[in-house]
Amino acid sequence: MTMTEAKLYLGVDLGGTFVKIGIIDDAGHICRKFKFPVDQDGYRTSILETAVLSAGEVLRSSDFLSFLSERKLAGIGVSATGQIDPHTGTVVGAAGHIPNYLGSHIAEDFHRAFGLNVAVANDADCSLLGECSYGAAKGDLNVVMMTLGTGVGGGILVDGKLMSGSRGAAGEIGHIIINDDGEECSCGNRGCLEHYASIKALVNKVRNAVSEGRISPAYLGGDADASSDDLSFINGKTIFSALSEKTDHNCSDHNVLFSIVDCWENYIADGLVSLVHIFNPDSIVIGGGVSEAGELLVSPIRNKVLKRAMPSFADGLIIKAAELGNDSGMIGAVENFKHRYSQQRA
Ligand SMILES: [Zn+2]
Repeated sequence: MTMTEAKLYLGVDLGGTFVKIGIIDDAGHICRKFKFPVDQDGYRTSILETAVLSAGEVLRSSDFLSFLSERKLAGIGVSATGQIDPHTGTVVGAAGHIPNYLGSHIAEDFHRAFGLNVAVANDADCSLLGECSYGAAKGDLNVVMMTLGTGVGGGILVDGKLMSGSRGAAGEIGHIIINDDGEECSCGNRGCLEHYASIKALVNKVRNAVSEGRISPAYLGGDADASSDDLSFINGKTIFSALSEKTDHNCSDHNVLFSIVDCWENYIADGLVSLVHIFNPDSIVIGGGVSEAGELLVSPIRNKVLKRAMPSFADGLIIKAAELGNDSGMIGAVENFKHRYSQQRA
């Protein structure tokens, strides 16, 4: 195997809790990966500053230098939370209000620090590119990705191209309004999909059911007498493992939990059915941490979407869980870099 010609890339995933940095080869394989917290001083040191310092640490490490050997570091791909202008590599909008983040010049600061070309895109868009290159939607040209987490993110691939829109912010599918009389969303509107279909929304509903005594804490893996003040043990993972592990489907705990999850999945399907009719995708990829639940999560959503989409749209439509997990952002960021600078690769 000749390794001397191979190029390496730095894949950076900027999130609100961690910056993840991977050394990634031309085939999308992560050779080394690192993770650094970004909220160590309440964001007084900006996320971007922490990320640039962390990347410098990685690139100076003897582990990396010996690994680099004769290979060439060809550039930096960054996946970043918030709305990103991909042309300038700047944060133009950020839901969630992370201090010192809005307006960050990501591409400029990384370029200044390391002298390499830099491509920046929104994290959901990067996950989508990663899944289309190496994961659940490999080879598909028309793909809708929905990522379920604290919010609902998304990315849309049309005819093999990432849809970016006038300011690069296209695909904010969490803010489709599904109930104009609904509750207030972090964006200021009412009744956004995100408010009903995020993991946060699901977890809140389940915690309420537990504190109202409709589900016993023990059913979700907590102490039988867990105080309703501390239901932090309930998260997406505990909810789906309760659904998968418990065999007594006639107990009332199960029925209440099942109906909450079913209702949450109806909201997800509401959003997806609208997107299917707008974009007529080959496939839909459901991402975010909860996608680890695989078919347990996806199968009911698939049934609901296929039942409600018009037959010509439902025919052949594939709906799958994301396959690259937490690494999709880093991998997709490098794919985005390669697309952007492909004319320089020949
Ligand atoms: Zn909203």
